[in-house]
Amino acid sequence: MRKYNLKKRFKRARARSRAMARRRRKHSINYISPMKIGVVCVIAFLVMIFATRATGIFKENVVEINLTAQDAEMYIGEDKPVFVAEVSCEGDTEIILDEDTGFTIQNLIDELNSGTGYTLESDGDGSETGEYEIKAELTSAVSTPLNTDWFDKVKINTKPGTLKVKEIDEEYMASVEAKKNRPMIALTFDDGPGKYTMKLLDALEENHAQATFFMLGQNVEKYEDEVAKMKEIGCELGNHSYDHPKFPKLSVDEMKAEINNTNGAIEAITGEPASVLRPPYGLINEEVKQNVEMPMILWSIDTLDWKTKDTQATIDHVLANVSDGDIVLMHDIYETSVNAAIELIKKLQDQGYYLVTVSELAASRGYELVKGEKYFGFYNE
Ligand code: ZN
Repeated sequence: MRKYNLKKRFKRARARSRAMARRRRKHSINYISPMKIGVVCVIAFLVMIFATRATGIFKENVVEINLTAQDAEMYIGEDKPVFVAEVSCEGDTEIILDEDTGFTIQNLIDELNSGTGYTLESDGDGSETGEYEIKAELTSAVSTPLNTDWFDKVKINTKPGTLKVKEIDEEYMASVEAKKNRPMIALTFDDGPGKYTMKLLDALEENHAQATFFMLGQNVEKYEDEVAKMKEIGCELGNHSYDHPKFPKLSVDEMKAEINNTNGAIEAITGEPASVLRPPYGLINEEVKQNVEMPMILWSIDTLDWKTKDTQATIDHVLANVSDGDIVLMHDIYETSVNAAIELIKKLQDQGYYLVTVSELAASRGYELVKGEKYFGFYNE
């Protein structure tokens, strides 16, 4: 009996302790059901995704591009300088961002380097001295893919620069004086724009040179991109009538219509009418002077490019005759003239000449352009 009871008691005790252990396990922190593991994994995953997106701390393989607005300086009252940014990157720039087009990080950098994809703005407008932040901001065309499709491949860090607006000082006065005295020439082109004009504008832009274009209204309407580009790169827009008549043979109303129609066509593209006028053939009489209501710009060097249609002859004529303050007449409707002009830009710059617009040449020599007056060149006394 005793033996039997012991055995039974032992069995019961063992069953009890197993049940207790089961209960303990069930409620203890050491016991985790597969269901719980699943939930925890999902939460952890979501947290990680969020952290990755929000902070980028897990983006170890993301290539970083730095877009840094460069510091700029200006004197009070001057035109705001053109802000520029520097783009740098140390990662692998061959990584493809868009499989369909093969667009790489290097392509993105090239775009940034060409000035697209971001804006640079400053609160400083140059009317008060002080230091102002130059803010670099990505356009949505770039920021949207950066936050979505490209987020695990590339990021762009924008860094601000500083615009310093300075009080006018002796250094400034000296630079104004130096600018006034440096040799300058105004290249001018008549009768366009035409099909070679864009090539000429590209050459001017590349060499940081400016020119003045005396345009026919009827061509302005055909070459809108060219006219917009002239304005964009700082060239001067001039009026050369609508369809090239001899002004002294027109009535005053007809002449005014020729001028106004062309100014209207230019204004429709650039927002401003022409600043200077060159009457066709340079023909001016008293009635023209009284009624044009614009300063009239003639020339001191006539290349006769329209007659010779000879690139080398045009180049030689300018180089043999040019001097500081001259206004050179050419026609951008001829390929030979445009090719000559492209050569001349480099050759004249090599000789130390600055290629400027008519108005800049006049202003730097202290001339104020007067309506109805005619000018042939602007020389230092
Ligand atoms: Zn002409």
